[in-house]
Amino acid sequence: MNEEDLLVRLSKTKERIIDAASRAGRDPASIKLIAVSKNHSTDKIEFLHKKGIKYFGENRVQELMSKNEDLTEINWHFIGHLQRNKVKYLTRMDNCKMIQSLDSWRLAKEVNKRARKNNRVIPVLVEVNTAGDENKYGFKPAETLPFIKKAQNLDFIQIQGLMTIAPYVEDSEEVRPYFKQLADLRKNINQEGFQLSELSMGMTNDFEVAIEEGATIVRIGTGLFGEREY
Ligand SMILES: *Cc1c(COP(=O)(O)O)cnc(C)c1O
Repeated sequence: MNEEDLLVRLSKTKERIIDAASRAGRDPASIKLIAVSKNHSTDKIEFLHKKGIKYFGENRVQELMSKNEDLTEINWHFIGHLQRNKVKYLTRMDNCKMIQSLDSWRLAKEVNKRARKNNRVIPVLVEVNTAGDENKYGFKPAETLPFIKKAQNLDFIQIQGLMTIAPYVEDSEEVRPYFKQLADLRKNINQEGFQLSELSMGMTNDFEVAIEEGATIVRIGTGLFGEREY
């Protein structure tokens, strides 16, 4: 681990968040940074945690659980596709603070059931496939409000907002329409009487555009940790 390198990446990332927020006339404190630590070592996570990063994101249950054995102080967000038979491992972990990738009614019911068993209400985001990408999970934009209406009866999940993963492109301006679409979708849903506060959108390659379009959560891996090693 190269601590100096991590520190430089951290301060550059923070600076870019602040700059993007100020371009949009937004308070940078209204944007939560999730450090996406998949494929990175626990010592890097521990280091960034000590430097003030509050949330870490993982996309595989197995990897999250094994890291959590060493890092019980970390607040995790689950950000990957979640199989129903693995939900129980997440709801059992008090420090798994959010599931960002709720992508089906069946999954919602399972999370609700397992959260109830663990006597907790778990915050979730509804994943929306804004780009209509066949290789991605998530609800179609038009399915999102009906799903949320149905899921409001699940008492052990708390839907706090929407999440999307934009396609990878060279020029991040190309994905601005998807972020705008997610922001508009939240607005429309809230006009129906809901109070979704979170918009999780933006990764290393596109988080500045996402912040300009209203992201309240950005999920940054490579920008903070460097390239992933497989
Ligand atoms: C890996 C991942 C990220 C972070 O990607 P980077 O390009 O490394 O910033 C963000 N969100 C999700 C859902 C991911 O799987």
